[in-house]
Amino acid sequence: MRVKMSVITLVIMSLLMSGSVINIANADTKDKPVICIDAGHQSKGNNTKEPVAPGSKTLKPKVSSGTQGVATGKPEFKLTLEVASKLEQVLQKDYKVIMIRRSNNVNISNSERATRCNKAGADLTLRLHADGSDNRSVQGMSFLYPSLSSSSTKNIAPQSLEIVKVLSQAVLKETKATSRGLVPRSDLTGFNWSKVPVVLIEMGFMTNRKEDVKLSEPTYQDLIVQGIKKGLDSYFKITVKK
Ligand SMILES: [Zn+2]
Repeated sequence: MRVKMSVITLVIMSLLMSGSVINIANADTKDKPVICIDAGHQSKGNNTKEPVAPGSKTLKPKVSSGTQGVATGKPEFKLTLEVASKLEQVLQKDYKVIMIRRSNNVNISNSERATRCNKAGADLTLRLHADGSDNRSVQGMSFLYPSLSSSSTKNIAPQSLEIVKVLSQAVLKETKATSRGLVPRSDLTGFNWSKVPVVLIEMGFMTNRKEDVKLSEPTYQDLIVQGIKKGLDSYFKITVKK
């Protein structure tokens, strides 16, 4: 009787233990928010066209070539990857990070980028870009999110807006950049194909000499990255251990 009891106790104990081990393992991976980072553009634009939204007859180039620094001569695709790589480093402890690209020499269309983030089950797709304008005095950061009134993004728009509000405040606080505000967009392929919340940060104007130089400074890039981290931590309620 004693032996039987202890065998039963052992079985129950081992069941409980294996159960708790599985739960801990699940909690560890499941609780980390999944962030899909898309460094805008690539070394060569791709003018082959794709539908701007699922089922749409409107076609847009798969990937445009982006802008270029008037002072640094740096192409946008290089800058976006620099910041994206720093962001990956900073986020990977508290988030599961999916990188759309780690190299400039890729050929991934905007719809494909969105689809990859969808498949990864991202909690947020974060698209990093820089701006350009014929008017070289224009500068500042813009925060783009999917339009609430567009049929292809209406399901992801409200949450994207919530995130972009928090994110923009944190990034502006950190960088002290001029804000060009929150901008709803219904014409972006990368938004329209997304099934997960998505925001796009235009980090500044590479056509403005001062801002172009600043965007390439490692310390300024760190401020952008820190701002994004703080914004995400605040939205996803990540407690940062000091
Ligand atoms: Zn761009």
